[in-house]
Amino acid sequence: MIREKKQALKEALQHYFGYEDFRHSQQEIIEQVMAKHDVLAIMPTGGGKSICYQLPALLMDGMAVVVSPLIALMKDQVDALQANGIAAAYLNSSLSEAEQVSVINKAKSGSLKLLYIAPERIPNNNNSFIQFLKALKPSLFAVDEAHCISSWGHDFRPEYLKLSVLKKEFPEVPVIALTASADGITQRDIVEKLALQHARVYLSSFNRPNIYYFVEPKKNALDRIADYLNQHPDSSGIIYALSRGSTEKIAQWLKISGYVAAHYHAGMESYERNRVQESFRRDEIKIIVATIAFGMGIDKSNVRFVIHYDVPKNIEGYYQETGRAGRDGLRSDAVLFYSDFDLNKLKKFTAIDNNKEQSQISLKKLQQMKDFCEHEGCRRKYLLEYFGEKAGDYCGSCDYCLSSLEERDVTTEAQKLLSAVARTGERFGGNYIIDLLRGSKSVKLRPEHKELRVYGIGSNIAKTEWESLLKAFLQQGLLDKSLDDYSVLKLNRRSHEILKSGMRVNLILKKEQTLLPGEETISFDEALLNQLKRGRKTVADEEGIPPYAVVADSTLVELATYLPQEINELRQISGFGAFKVSKYGEVFLDIIIAYCRENHLKSRMPSKRITPELSKGPQEMLITETRKTSMEMFQQGMTVAAIAARRAMTESTVQGHLAVFVSKGLLDIHEVIPEQKLQIITDLLRQSPPLTLLSKLKEKLGDRISYGDIKLATAYLEFIDKDKP
Ligand code: ADP
Ligand code: ZN
Repeated sequence: MIREKKQALKEALQHYFGYEDFRHSQQEIIEQVMAKHDVLAIMPTGGGKSICYQLPALLMDGMAVVVSPLIALMKDQVDALQANGIAAAYLNSSLSEAEQVSVINKAKSGSLKLLYIAPERIPNNNNSFIQFLKALKPSLFAVDEAHCISSWGHDFRPEYLKLSVLKKEFPEVPVIALTASADGITQRDIVEKLALQHARVYLSSFNRPNIYYFVEPKKNALDRIADYLNQHPDSSGIIYALSRGSTEKIAQWLKISGYVAAHYHAGMESYERNRVQESFRRDEIKIIVATIAFGMGIDKSNVRFVIHYDVPKNIEGYYQETGRAGRDGLRSDAVLFYSDFDLNKLKKFTAIDNNKEQSQISLKKLQQMKDFCEHEGCRRKYLLEYFGEKAGDYCGSCDYCLSSLEERDVTTEAQKLLSAVARTGERFGGNYIIDLLRGSKSVKLRPEHKELRVYGIGSNIAKTEWESLLKAFLQQGLLDKSLDDYSVLKLNRRSHEILKSGMRVNLILKKEQTLLPGEETISFDEALLNQLKRGRKTVADEEGIPPYAVVADSTLVELATYLPQEINELRQISGFGAFKVSKYGEVFLDIIIAYCRENHLKSRMPSKRITPELSKGPQEMLITETRKTSMEMFQQGMTVAAIAARRAMTESTVQGHLAVFVSKGLLDIHEVIPEQKLQIITDLLRQSPPLTLLSKLKEKLGDRISYGDIKLATAYLEFIDKDKP
């Protein structure tokens, strides 16, 4: 019986929303609400809170009333529901009188399943609105952003206090409170202020496995951002800055540099803000430079990156802002730039606060933010522990984990750098010397220096790597830096030793690290994906809704990976519920079929496994589990590309997973890599000295061989060499 019920819920999820499985505790929460219990659900942004009340709303008699604080958010949600063929509407001040009347009439006629309202609508005492609600026999009340009811939360809204009237007037109707951020005090406060009865509290893991965290000192931050944007030309994202002025400046700079960007802050006219927000939702503006005023109302699922140009005031804010990336479950990046200067500036703001107690709390939170920036360890672990969760030591997807330490012989590099300092008379700073070594064409370099032998001898090493080398050299005292404002590099005794005697230099260094190991290698068909995106845009424009409300990016990626050819196959694609299949199915199938015909491709649906890994809880993503999963999928006949797409990982990551099995002799290398390719790599590996940098190998092998291929070949050699005497 219970089993049947669970099955029925799953089928409803599939039917209305096209998702194959529940995430986190969605299912338990839904069961509780449908059994008319009050619930407090705490889930990270993007965790999937909406389904928790939307599905019960659809399955229960009557109409659900959803209280939501932001007008933009309401419109988004209602758009998305309508796109799934669900009768939903909202009431707020953005509607004209006539529109409001029409919504009220629809509600009265019983044709709505969900009605979104602003908290202001709920009156203090019995009045016509309560009477109106009573007549509708609400099935449930959902209170979104429930932390707004607590003055302990970070976004207190006094009008939320009026919501206590709900349980008073409707004791029989279940209330579900939802929030993405609530510590213990706030949780208790929510339960108390809403007068929830015997509330079940569900706290989901805050881990967002598809978000990669990068933190770096703020140095040439704009150039770094430009690098990033160039590596991710089609991605849309948000750049957060602290002041209104800087959002404008950065947006201006981006526009001048040729990017489609706009700024957004609370000082703008509201029509202007709406215009920017709307263009962002519609993928017309890809990059928004904003103060934290932007985002609360943004329910866009394909935000691929969130960059913090300035340090946020606390971890809560940082986490919430980064959480706006990757709601669709695909790989997304969170990049944070910090500087002592910025941190000190914030400290001053915080200290002015005339409430001593409050300002002490704020100062402590700021200190924790600083600790996070300077943390020498896994970023994800720090964040999860901050929110009271346990976490492994390495997540494999933050700057720290991606760049484990290694000892390297850097004698040549040291010699090159020191001789450049010597040849230019010890009169220049680090940047100048690095430019010289890299053979920069900059006019800042003196013409006579461009004649030197050292000019360009370090061009094989990236600028960022030279910078970290120089930093390490200075730390180790291999040379000195003047203490005045010019930071001129000076040779010392050790420098001369190295230059003269050829003394070896070994340093423990972080492995060469690019800001963002960008290249998206998920193996969908890119040309097809672009066609699908264009098709989606056309449909979206016709209907006046944002593209992701038609179908999410992740759904398009699946289409471009598995190439479904008929309606039946389409049903197995995540995001295609019954309604969307019948409404949009043909549009997308036509595009895919035409594309496949032209390129002689067939459906790859047989390699698609039914249970999506992404929907599983993050606890199951532990290193060994995750490797096993890839292996299982592979054994079931999926290609590496398909596994990567399915799991929203890069192909290299999946190959890395498989490599472990190859190294243990549990997987035949020839199943994963063609003999010819294998030969090329193993030949090179055998000729290279042990511990040669992966990047060096990659350089020699060229673009046709990926990091993953190298990992596999290395694992293979490890396996066959094991038995050698
Ligand atoms: P939140 O409100 O918690 O920030 P949403 O409810 O907006 O998150 O959900 C985030 C995204 O995840 C949405 O695109 C939503 O449709 C999708 N989603 C929610 N539940 C599931 C599920 N069980 N399987 C797949 N996708 C889901
Ligand atoms: Zn990590």
